[in-house]
Amino acid sequence: MSKKILIIGSGIAGIAASLKLKSYGLESTIVDKGNFIGGRIGTREQKLRKSTYYFFHGAQFFSAKKNNFQKIINAGVKKNYIKEFGEFTPSRFRGYPTMRNFLSNLSKDINILQNYKITCLKKIHDKINVLEDTRKTWNVFDAVISTIPAPQNLELMDDFPILKQSLETASYDACIALMFYFDKKPLNIPTYFDFYNKDDILGWMAAGSNIKFWTAHTKSLYSNLNLDTNKSLIKNEILSSIKDFFFTYQNISNINFSSLHVWKYAKTKNIVVGKQIDPEFPIAIAGDFMEGPNVESAFISGEKAADLIFDRLS
Ligand SMILES: Cc1cc2nc3c(=O)[nH]c(=O)nc-3n(C[C@H](O)[C@H](O)[C@H](O)COP(=O)(O)OP(=O)(O)OC[C@H]3O[C@@H](n4cnc5c(N)ncnc54)[C@H](O)[C@@H]3O)c2cc1C
Repeated sequence: MSKKILIIGSGIAGIAASLKLKSYGLESTIVDKGNFIGGRIGTREQKLRKSTYYFFHGAQFFSAKKNNFQKIINAGVKKNYIKEFGEFTPSRFRGYPTMRNFLSNLSKDINILQNYKITCLKKIHDKINVLEDTRKTWNVFDAVISTIPAPQNLELMDDFPILKQSLETASYDACIALMFYFDKKPLNIPTYFDFYNKDDILGWMAAGSNIKFWTAHTKSLYSNLNLDTNKSLIKNEILSSIKDFFFTYQNISNINFSSLHVWKYAKTKNIVVGKQIDPEFPIAIAGDFMEGPNVESAFISGEKAADLIFDRLS
């Protein structure tokens, strides 16, 4: 059957939904307001002395516990765009050479339009009318899957009160990411440090595409409290924590600040209790807020939304 299907968001949930629809013979178009695919699987470029390096300032790695996602990961490992990260149980993985390569490879056969922001969804007969903000165009679709974080998704759902009710039950923790680099390659240090059980504002930090380029993430409590704090104040506080840590750890002091990113909706705290598809109209929601605060859960929710839409259109 030939249907016009729109997916909002080119994060892992949107890509999973599109791939699943494709497996049923249904083509879809993904639109995303950002410049790059990946959403919270973020990669930030840094040019230094004619070379380019990458920070992974969103998800730094992911695990694959369920069958379907494991298949995707195993295929990526075989094709060399995913690599195992460290020695953890269960195993952790990363896109290679950057986190974004995971998604760019996975989505090779999918239509994706970046810099398209959706600001209104309206029901029209048995279809969905969609407003794209930059071009101010309305287009009618046979079905829509919206994968944007729950609080932003909510704003689009005035015509779909059951989905709105679902989205209202989700909540998030924030996360502040500070990107930094060493002047000289640090010797004999691991690529990951965990501070969860320590009395520190830092939650964890990991190297990016190179052992000199790192991202540190603050704990949820600190991030939530400091969402609106002056950025230069939090930058100094986080950087000073990082410097103290490395100085005590190995007498390392050659650390430079690169940039700071505040993720307001970083990790799902409470998942949705409620429906994933509208009872009447062909519109569904997907994202980590449906299943759990990680890449694999977002992937699973995207597949589930695709199944629901496929059933509805069949
Ligand atoms: C700092 C941080 C660290 C994390 N660490 C880990 C980790 O180590 N391991 C792990 O498994 N998970 C981690 N996560 C969680 C993981 O990144 C997310 O669960 C997952 O990437 C969510 O994917 P998604 O597709 O649901 O949403 P997103 O990736 O948020 O995708 C939604 C997309 O929608 C787009 N969008 C928003 N509004 C609009 C609009 N109006 N119109 C069009 N497009 C729009 C956005 O640009 C975005 O690309 C981390 C997240 C953060 C922020």
